[in-house]
Amino acid sequence: MSSKNSPSVPSRNPVGGHVPVAGGLASVGLSYARDLGAEAVQVFVANPRGWATPPGNPKQDEQFRAACAAERIPAYVHAPYLINFGSHTEATVEKSVESLRHSLRRGREIGALGVVVHTGSATGGRDRAVALRQVRERMLPLLDELTHDDDPFLLLESTAGQGFSLCSRTWDFGPYFEALDAHPKLGICLDTCHIFAAGHDLAETGGMKQTLDLLVDTVGEGRLKLVHANDSKDVVGAHKDRHENIGTGHIGEEPFRELMSHPATENVPLVIETPGGKEGHAADVARLKALRSR
Ligand SMILES: [Zn+2]
Repeated sequence: MSSKNSPSVPSRNPVGGHVPVAGGLASVGLSYARDLGAEAVQVFVANPRGWATPPGNPKQDEQFRAACAAERIPAYVHAPYLINFGSHTEATVEKSVESLRHSLRRGREIGALGVVVHTGSATGGRDRAVALRQVRERMLPLLDELTHDDDPFLLLESTAGQGFSLCSRTWDFGPYFEALDAHPKLGICLDTCHIFAAGHDLAETGGMKQTLDLLVDTVGEGRLKLVHANDSKDVVGAHKDRHENIGTGHIGEEPFRELMSHPATENVPLVIETPGGKEGHAADVARLKALRSR
């Protein structure tokens, strides 16, 4: 959160982090965000490795919403990891629908601008086309339910390309968007570690620009709403989802500077999901802010 002498005009790319909220969305989450110097926040509204759909605490929700609005901190929700709209198991799909509906509702209640969900995979030896048809049948109605003015966007996050991932390269967003009729409430959360692991070499000269250009070519302008800024412990194309601190992995610092000067990231916040606890997170936020100003 901004300190007293921060500029009142928000930066082109607010930089923040995923913050823990166990014990209080506002009391714990926002104080952690302040310690990071975060200008944007991302939270879970449920156990990320479970299916529970807990109600919020109205007092904490209101405090969180009010503080984020007053300090112009864009907030995001990350939906649980178990969600898979491409699953061949009906029980998993049903729980995915309930879990994502919950995250979207909670997102509105806390004033979040977007809810991030993983694009999932075609399990059970299924055809991608069959899985994408199911994505259409089960996810599109949830997008159609977003009719309030303050409903969040649904942000698709591609994966590192493990297994039968439905979306890992930039062009994979094409069929996914098509399956969802390029719904107006649909956007993208680009995870730099995932897209690098999937095979886009952000570290080579011009690699970040080329990747962002490809993304815009696939889904059009204005769809990129959030960046998960993570370096990668593994080499390009490794299909491994192992985040590293900014500048110390195989992506390196320079591509993050390029990212924050590309037209597609105008007014798009960056959120880190890196290791190292609070100290590591604060250092990564500071590093990205320094890269932004250069
Ligand atoms: Zn991510």
